[in-house]
Amino acid sequence: MEKVVIIRYAEIHLKGKNRGYFERVFANNLEKALKGIRHELHRTSGRYLVANFDEEWTEEIMRRISRVFGVHSYSQGLLTESSPDAIYAAARLVVPAEGSFKVQTHRGDKHYPLTSMEISAHIGGRLLDEFPALCVDVHTPAHTVYVDIRESGRALVFGTFCDGPHGMPVSTAGRGLLLISGGIDSPVAGYMMAKRGLTVELLHFHSYPYTNEAAKEKVVTLARLLSDYTLVTRLTTVSVTHIQEEIHKKCAAELNVTLLRRFMLRIAERVSAHVGAGCLVTGESLGQVASQTLEGLTSSNAVVSLPVLRPLIGFDKEDIIEVAKKIGTFETSTLPYEDCCTVFLPDFPAIRPKLPFIEEEEKKLDVEGLVEDALSTREIIRL
Ligand code: ATP
Ligand code: MG
Repeated sequence: MEKVVIIRYAEIHLKGKNRGYFERVFANNLEKALKGIRHELHRTSGRYLVANFDEEWTEEIMRRISRVFGVHSYSQGLLTESSPDAIYAAARLVVPAEGSFKVQTHRGDKHYPLTSMEISAHIGGRLLDEFPALCVDVHTPAHTVYVDIRESGRALVFGTFCDGPHGMPVSTAGRGLLLISGGIDSPVAGYMMAKRGLTVELLHFHSYPYTNEAAKEKVVTLARLLSDYTLVTRLTTVSVTHIQEEIHKKCAAELNVTLLRRFMLRIAERVSAHVGAGCLVTGESLGQVASQTLEGLTSSNAVVSLPVLRPLIGFDKEDIIEVAKKIGTFETSTLPYEDCCTVFLPDFPAIRPKLPFIEEEEKKLDVEGLVEDALSTREIIRL
């Protein structure tokens, strides 16, 4: 009998002819997630098994698997021979000592000599004999012992189902570049696109020395948390300090944010070419702040030809916070460090900036030169 982690996968089966490809990517992602932990990964019809790992790594393996998109559910369990005695030996380790329970059997091997009902009755009966404080309740049991008879003359026995993150395996939907700030929204946006299978590369703009080292560390921490899901382990940073100073010096104050955002997208498009991304991703949500009105979004879109994906566009802040808490980024996001957007923030930002006015103001700036200067500050941080 061997300790294993059982992984069932999700939407992949919908993909018909591409199934083989999706499964290869999925297995590859599982391997990436388990990097650094001694283990073996096996495929058995419709499931993956993590086996041959050291007992003390079980929790960590479960934690990492809980973040691999495509995982529908996962369980800690035992792999045994499929004889009734072997199954029983495993079941008695899985069942608690008291309370109501039932045994639920699934027979993947249809040639197995006993029916599912017979196996459940046999194992249940023996458990009752051995543990007098147990009682059977087939309708609302406190515990269920699952027995899964596989084709290979082996059986899986387990006591819990953990819900996985669902979604599509990352990297099956191409590559995008997430503009990540230190805020609540952008990490959630990255999570959501990764869940649809996008490989999410990361770009952060800083305004050193107006923003400090702690602000940068905060983003690095967020990027690390996100990388559990995205499996991407690098973060590109670019300074926009000189751009903010130029805008502040030369342009109408109410357009500061609008103009900066246009620079961010231009720079992001150029960084996309470096990392092979085919789209940009932001954490914008309609109407959340002055720059996220329809006019604000239009003015940003106007300077790039890549699509800008905004998965949070129709989300309320509370909805976003709920996801941020679920994925573990909320606490870090709410640490009180300055983001580059808050430096030089005008008292009254333009809420409905008109494109002709924006373009007129922008003529006061050497746009291409400023973008080039920004790109020369590009750094890559390994997470
Ligand atoms: P967030 O909570 O993600 O910071 P926000 O509500 O503060 O978002 P804005 O500051 O207007 O909104 O930013 C909107 C989007 O622009 C962010 O979600 C992010 O994608 C991008 N962005 C903002 N600041 C930065 C930055 N310093 N570096 C990279 N991207 C940024
Ligand atoms: Mg922000």
